Amino acid sequence: MFAKVLIANRGEIAVRIIRTLREMGVASVAVYSDPDRTALHVQVADEAYPLPGTTAAETYLQAATLIEIARSCGADAIHPGYGFLSENADFARACVAAGITFVGPPPDAIAAMGDKIIAKRLMEEAGVPVVPGWVGAADAKAATVATEASKIGYPVLVKAAAGGGGKGMRVVEDASALAEACAAARREAGAAFGDDRIFLEKYLPHARHVEFQVLADTHGAVTHLAERECSIQRRHQKIVEEAPAPGLAPAVRARMAEAAVRAAAAIGYANAGTVEFMLADDGAFYFLEVNTRLQVEHPVTELILGRDLVRDQIEIAAGAALPVRGDETPIRGHAIECRVYAEDPARNFLPSTGRIHYMETPDGPGVRVDSGVATGSEVSVHYDPMLAKLIAWAPDRGQAITRMRAALARFVVLGVITNIEFLQDLLGHPAFVAGDLHTRFLEEHSIGVTPGPPTLAEHAVAAFAATNRRRPPAGAIGAAETTAPDPWSSAGRWRGGLS
Ligand code: ADP
Repeated sequence: MFAKVLIANRGEIAVRIIRTLREMGVASVAVYSDPDRTALHVQVADEAYPLPGTTAAETYLQAATLIEIARSCGADAIHPGYGFLSENADFARACVAAGITFVGPPPDAIAAMGDKIIAKRLMEEAGVPVVPGWVGAADAKAATVATEASKIGYPVLVKAAAGGGGKGMRVVEDASALAEACAAARREAGAAFGDDRIFLEKYLPHARHVEFQVLADTHGAVTHLAERECSIQRRHQKIVEEAPAPGLAPAVRARMAEAAVRAAAAIGYANAGTVEFMLADDGAFYFLEVNTRLQVEHPVTELILGRDLVRDQIEIAAGAALPVRGDETPIRGHAIECRVYAEDPARNFLPSTGRIHYMETPDGPGVRVDSGVATGSEVSVHYDPMLAKLIAWAPDRGQAITRMRAALARFVVLGVITNIEFLQDLLGHPAFVAGDLHTRFLEEHSIGVTPGPPTLAEHAVAAFAATNRRRPPAGAIGAAETTAPDPWSSAGRWRGGLS
């Protein structure tokens, strides 16, 4: 086993990885940018080293600096978390070249899956169903692209070969919008990934996103650890995830699991990975991509299986044989995860930045919070605005929803605006409760388009502010004669919403 592991990441995932390392008796090394000097992951690590600079490009993406720090502090492995360098094959290769274990799959598997065009071809060859489409769009003439798009049939989806995080993706409803959508997708992909190759796919308008967690060791064994439902998305990005997928027919589940294992085996996979599928109403499913890293939503799998996926990753990276066969692991209960973001749903989800003046997270049976921030933390514009993940487990889905809603109501963040109220609305929607999910759920049900009523925390702050405005400072002339007004009678319009 490793003696020391460097975490090339920040925020909640760095904290989460450090927690497992501590349990395993492995020393943890954090790295931090200038704004993250006092961040939670720095506080909880055994050692921490600076990455001078502010932006991700200056700091957490500095591959050579990270490897140098790992070498000089004697770390024998680097865990990349998700995002940043986690799916960068060159970084994985550089780690190996420096004699440091990269906690992740072989660099060639990362490279192959990082190119969606190559990934689709490999999956087709392995007999895994892929979304019908056309991959020749990279340097084809506009007329050829138009012909191929009509052969696929509208609506079509323009996607970027290097895509990730929903970037470089455009839904095209009819032929007249195709050329502009291709140009826009190219521009966006070029700017985001330095690679503007695009391809076309049939757009599946009423499908679900169902993905399988796979686990493979370095000795050739591959298994799966059940599925996650990730259909609740905004701009093709997940917001709420759950496990298992509600209402998935056992026969379909078995076929998808078998395809996921086949997909991982076909690319010589090792470590934890995720095979993503679109699942249509008729039970047909299609490969989307393989994420060659730990997923943001891995906790829901951990809770229904009673596993620690970070421990699995570290043991596999250290050469251990696969600890478990997926089809032998019983699923227990139901888990749901909500991503709590510093953003304003009333202002088109504009990121909200600033200091967290006060934060209180829920706890209790079946409630887990993976957070990278606490009272006093700064939320900056430079990184992902996700503050925390709230995960609820219960014996069945209905109880998990109830538990999640109760936990959301106790989750207090003051100082930045969050999407907590929006998550409440979403979890309480009858279609969500019924498990009638698909990737356009938020659009179809218009959730998040109108601002909700002020939250209890907002009421309290407003009332407090109203009270304090009238109360002279202690010791001021006349203070003795002044009685502090009752906040609820002085809070004006804020009071109404509380009844
Ligand atoms: P990224 O790598 O950018 O996350 P993915 O290929 O994983 O892109 O797709 C992200 C999301 O985009 C999916 O979960 C789904 O909501 C939507 N999507 C992707 N491909 C299709 C498709 N062919 N039809 C409908 N929706 C799709």
